Amino acid sequence: MNISITKTTTPKAKPTMDNLPFGKYFSDHMFVMDYAEGKGWYDPRIVPYGPLELEPSAMVFHYAQEIFEGLKAYKSKDGHVRLFRPYKNFERMNVSAERLAIPALDVDFCVDALKQLVELDRDWIPEQEGASLYIRPFIIATDEYLGVRPSDTYKFLIICSPSGLYYPEGLDPVKIYVEDKYVRTVRGATGFTKTGGNYASSIKAQVIAHERGYSQVLWLDGVEQKYVEEVGSMNIFFKIDGEVVTPMLNGSILSGITRMSTIELLKKWGVPVSERRISIQEIFDAYQAGKLEECFGTGTAAIISPVGELRWEDHVMTINDNQIGEITQRVFDTITGIQTGTMPDEMNWVVTVD
Ligand SMILES: *Cc1c(COP(=O)(O)O)cnc(C)c1O
Repeated sequence: MNISITKTTTPKAKPTMDNLPFGKYFSDHMFVMDYAEGKGWYDPRIVPYGPLELEPSAMVFHYAQEIFEGLKAYKSKDGHVRLFRPYKNFERMNVSAERLAIPALDVDFCVDALKQLVELDRDWIPEQEGASLYIRPFIIATDEYLGVRPSDTYKFLIICSPSGLYYPEGLDPVKIYVEDKYVRTVRGATGFTKTGGNYASSIKAQVIAHERGYSQVLWLDGVEQKYVEEVGSMNIFFKIDGEVVTPMLNGSILSGITRMSTIELLKKWGVPVSERRISIQEIFDAYQAGKLEECFGTGTAAIISPVGELRWEDHVMTINDNQIGEITQRVFDTITGIQTGTMPDEMNWVVTVD
């Protein structure tokens, strides 16, 4: 399919690229493609970024049949544009699509469309250290209908947002609240997909955690509320007595690409790493025995987020004296180094646009 390109005639003023907030500004263009039952995906196009016109009855507004992705483009020092493992994002988008009864996409076509979009808006990629162009692909159900069934029509869009460092003050350890009342999802539901509904059900717990002085929530399993699952928009890792452990993918945890990359790096380095079920009691016991050595979250937005404090019920666990741990730092340095091109890409993770 050929992608038509309509360039904007009124380019937007760019924001100051220093200290850009996350996800607040959007580039000049967006990618759009439509779907109709019997016709498939059609009319792929790059057009000026702007509002959509949708009927109030569009199904996405009522039953949240929607999925999204998140990835980043970096500009290296020599001016090349680099995407980090973009095929994984569109492969995962198809996993989400299958669960939400949304039609699948052609992964190669999507990466190609993304490259064309990012190339056109390459001046929107910030060059400040650690800053990037955050890319948000998403699909919405657009049938004008209030009955409950899969939509017969969809829109797929990709929008781009120049974003600064997630933690402008540096990699300071965050405080995390172990949520013991609300749950995010359960096995059999949509926890393993990137869909807005998972976030809708998580917002209230996040608000409460903020009020209590914690930056994010650590979710426990939705059935027994015993086993560690993940943080708001990050997967979670612990280093216990020399071994790195992370919850296994059990159907309710999002399969993070940063998580996957972290595991692959640790294996390459010969650091013991296991994916298994981990109870919050086990974490607390390790803490009390002085064996909880490091804790960090992984996700595209922050890449790696060291955890300095975990609060579970009345227990406050201070990890590694509130300092970033050695493995945490090494994973962060390596992934960001590969993304930005300051370290060799031995794993072949980067796709260059130009
Ligand atoms: C996107 C996301 C992650 C992190 O996935 P990455 O591919 O590493 O960005 C983790 N948990 C949830 C709930 C997410 O939505």
